Amino acid sequence: RFISFEGGEGAGKTTQIRRLVAALEERGIETIATREPGGTQGAEEIRALLVRGSADRWSPLTEALLHNAARSDHLDRVIRPALDRAAWVVTDRFADSTRAYQGHALGLGDEAIGTLEGLTVSFTRPDITFILDLPVEEGLARARAREADAQAGEDRYEGLDVTFHEKLRQGFLAIARAEPERCMVVDARDPADAVSEIIWQEVARRFPEVTG
Ligand code: C5P
Ligand code: MG
Repeated sequence: RFISFEGGEGAGKTTQIRRLVAALEERGIETIATREPGGTQGAEEIRALLVRGSADRWSPLTEALLHNAARSDHLDRVIRPALDRAAWVVTDRFADSTRAYQGHALGLGDEAIGTLEGLTVSFTRPDITFILDLPVEEGLARARAREADAQAGEDRYEGLDVTFHEKLRQGFLAIARAEPERCMVVDARDPADAVSEIIWQEVARRFPEVTG
């Protein structure tokens, strides 16, 4: 099974992934927790190219190509081998982030993104995607608070304006509307416990074997 978490800044993906992975492992399910951009040595090196520098360091197409290059390595070395041995994979971001960031917020468009996605992802698509949704101001406030805690690290997107993050949010919501079978929008303003309960219920509904 392949599960992705998506959303803008400060939505709480890390916390929710940690909880879901713990719940699956408690039930004896081998689960790989991973992230994008990254997840392999090479993809983490590409991530470093992506997150450092000024907001306009790359053109939207170059940026999309770098994300796809990282994703291709991640798929080949981590995701597909894990799924092939029937492990579960839970990833912090996947192809929907490229659709929302580069495709929608940076304006590259669905067609270019779709072409790259067809090549890179092909048939390895998430079974469930949780989109953690938050009003933009709230997400940015949370991201800033986290930065003050000095656990965030370099990130050239967190400085971008509210308009960018609003487009990003709308990009994710449009994906959810287009693929309601796969995507579940979760209100990330709810307390973390409530959010993880909603997520677990959906996993159990889609894959009853986990409660089994
Ligand atoms: O989720 P995380 O903070 O680890 O992602 C690293 C950065 O890369 C984020 O600021 C995110 O906004 C950005 N990103 C992006 N395009 C993607 C995926 C992530 O711009 N396709
Ligand atoms: Mg971030």
